[in-house]
Amino acid sequence: MNIRNVAVVPAGGVGSRMGGDTPKQYMELAGKPLLYHTLRVFQDASCIDGIILVAGEGQEAYCHELFVRQYAMDKILAVVTGGKERYDSVYNGLSVTPPCSYVLIHDGARPCVTEDILRRTLEDAAIYGAAVAAVPVKDTIKVADQKGNVVQTPARDTLWTIQTPQTFSYDLIMDAYRKLQERRETLTVPVTDDAMVVERMTGHAVHLTMGSYENLKVTTPEDLPAAATFLEKAIDNRRQQ
Ligand code: C5P
Repeated sequence: MNIRNVAVVPAGGVGSRMGGDTPKQYMELAGKPLLYHTLRVFQDASCIDGIILVAGEGQEAYCHELFVRQYAMDKILAVVTGGKERYDSVYNGLSVTPPCSYVLIHDGARPCVTEDILRRTLEDAAIYGAAVAAVPVKDTIKVADQKGNVVQTPARDTLWTIQTPQTFSYDLIMDAYRKLQERRETLTVPVTDDAMVVERMTGHAVHLTMGSYENLKVTTPEDLPAAATFLEKAIDNRRQQ
C-alpha cells in the first residue's frame, strides 16, 4: 500500500493540570475515553493512511488492547512509549513513522478535531510544506515580566492561538526533529509545539491554516463541559453524513 499521510498522536502526558487519578486521555467523554474520540477521527478519515500512537510509559499494552484490539482501529501502525517532554514523545513517534508524503502531528487531548481540519492542513502543507491549525485570538494578549507587570501589548490582529494538527512534509519534520535531538542540551526556551521545532531548527516558514474554536485542548476540568458539547455535535454531524 502506498502510504501518503501518517498521523502521530502524542498522548503520553501525565495531565497534571487536570488533577484526579485517571490520566485525562482516558477520562470518559460522550461515553468513551477521550483519546478514543481523537483516534476515531483519524481512523475514519479517508485522507489518513496510518496512525502512530504515543502512549505514556506503562500504558502501551492498555492502549494496544483498547484501541487496536477492542475498537479494531486498523490504521494504528504502532503504539510507542512517550518521553519526558511533549517533543520527546513526538520524536519517539516520528522514529517509527514510515516514509510517507505528509505527517500530521495531533494532540491526543484534542478530541473535537474534524476531518475538514485535517484536510485543510494537508492542502496547505502541499503548498507551503508546513501548515498548522490556528484561530485568531479573541482576547487582548499582554506580555508581562516576572513581577506580573505589563511590558507589551501586541496588536491583536497579528495574534493567533495555535492548535493541532500541525502538518509537515515528511522530510522537513524528520530533519527538524533530528536537529532538535542533537541540540537538546542547548535549548533555552521551552518547546511547546512542532511548528516551533521547524521554525527554530530549519528556518522553514510555517503557514497558519484556519482551525476551529471548537478544536479545544482538554487541559483543565473547566474544559470538559465544552468539549462534551462540541463532541456530541461532531458525532451527530458525522452520523448525518
Ligand atoms: O502538555 P500539553 O497540553 O501541551 O500536551 C499536549 C499533548 O501532548 C497531550 O495529548 C499530551 O498527552 C501529549 N504529551 C505527550 N508527552 C509528554 C507531554 C505531553 O505525549 N511528555
